[in-house]
Amino acid sequence: MDEVRIMKFGGSSVGSAERILQVASVVKQYDDTPQVVVVSAVGGVTDKLVNIHSLAAKKDIAYKEVLQELKDQHIDIARSIAKYGIDIEKRIQKIFEELEQQAEQTARITNRSTGYDAIVSFGERLSVELVAAALESKTNHTQAISATELIRTNKEFTDAQPILEKTESLARARLLPLLRQGITPVVTGFIGATESGEVTTLGRGASDYTATILGYCLDASEVIIWTDVTGVMTADPRVIPDAQTIADLSYGEASELSYYGAKVLHPLTMIPASLKNIPIRIKNTFRLDAAGTRISSFPEQSNHHIKAVTKKSQLSVVSIHSSDYDGVTSVVSLATKLIVAHKITVYLMTQASHEGTVSFVISMEKSEQLVKLLNSDIKDGNITITIDNDVSIVAVVGDGRDVIPMAMGVIFSSLSAGGVSSRAVAQGHSGKSLSVVVKSEDELLAVRVLHQGLGLQLMNKRKA
Ligand code: ADP
Ligand code: ASP
Ligand code: MG
Repeated sequence: MDEVRIMKFGGSSVGSAERILQVASVVKQYDDTPQVVVVSAVGGVTDKLVNIHSLAAKKDIAYKEVLQELKDQHIDIARSIAKYGIDIEKRIQKIFEELEQQAEQTARITNRSTGYDAIVSFGERLSVELVAAALESKTNHTQAISATELIRTNKEFTDAQPILEKTESLARARLLPLLRQGITPVVTGFIGATESGEVTTLGRGASDYTATILGYCLDASEVIIWTDVTGVMTADPRVIPDAQTIADLSYGEASELSYYGAKVLHPLTMIPASLKNIPIRIKNTFRLDAAGTRISSFPEQSNHHIKAVTKKSQLSVVSIHSSDYDGVTSVVSLATKLIVAHKITVYLMTQASHEGTVSFVISMEKSEQLVKLLNSDIKDGNITITIDNDVSIVAVVGDGRDVIPMAMGVIFSSLSAGGVSSRAVAQGHSGKSLSVVVKSEDELLAVRVLHQGLGLQLMNKRKA
């Protein structure tokens, strides 16, 4: 196969029958090259499935109401698409029967975590049917495919990682013959399966990751991620209305931005693409003419500027204090072991040598767990652990070495003029990023004053 393009459509792009038909026309416009289409669940559906799972696990029959709502929503969309010629209502009904059985099983079993991945995978299993039907109605020959057939993962349920070699041979064997016959596969994002066939999910927002995993497997010429904004922007446009599209990013910059909260891309998306130097484009499903963002290893415009301000919400600072300094160093090694063993992501760590205190910034969700583990393992009476909830990280990301040190004055004067105080600060070692810990209530203000103070609203005017 000479060239393959991966086209991924997010939840908002498949939010209604009209939008799904728009997706089909975008795919049609790009059919100069064989394509694999990757789709997310219909917008908001995965959250509802998570809710179904947690209600069923608590044996609360209210899950049945949420399930009915989802069923009505999907049947409605299927009926609207049927007007264009392809009737998949029976298929959707059948998938809902399976979901009902799965939810009932979860409600019967005592182990609370059972069935999470299996239940939440249904969002994508349903949306591929809708998108494939819409595409078929636009005369493209298609086939809906579950990525459980393609993506082999480890057993880290809810956050599974692909086993690339196996995935590559499965994906090639299944997808290349279809492409050669002129059939466009429509593949579920977000999900995979273990060696023994259990359904896994790759983490929230991971359909972007599915797209580049398949891009890697098929040696794609490019991966286009279609979403509801025009590319990766200088800040979240929902927070900063005059945020600008960043034309070019390196894989590293894009990873950094997504790691610090730019939701437009899942943080692992860049890894498979960078392994084979496959460019990623981020484009707006509703503004086809706009170029969007191009992510590659050698971005064309590296202007040594600050590129963006991001925020990561719902974090906690867990601090270990010791009245004697040596005490804290031994506790840090214990804390680090626990953090690694429990796969807790540390967003920032601080330690000042004159005080016996070390602080870790981690997600609020994991903070109680870490404090419990620390308290049960620490026997030294001189050590105390504190937890400070409701903090956020606001990160400034630049596009060249030492961009941040040059902007330090503007960053801190903007924050202080805006009345935002920082609780902790860390600079990335290459001088490309700076993370500031602020109170959650100040996060939006911090993003606004930094975006304005750094002149990011003028980014594209500056270049012109
Ligand atoms: P999809 O459903 O297409 O995967 P997501 O909701 O996951 O879309 O991601 C797109 C959203 O990411 C946008 O609507 C926007 O609000 C948010 N976002 C956050 N930071 C940024 C940023 N720096 N650039 C663009 N979008 C961003
Ligand atoms: N549907 C999944 C989620 O909401 C995956 C994705 O949208 O990328 O997390
Ligand atoms: Mg997304």
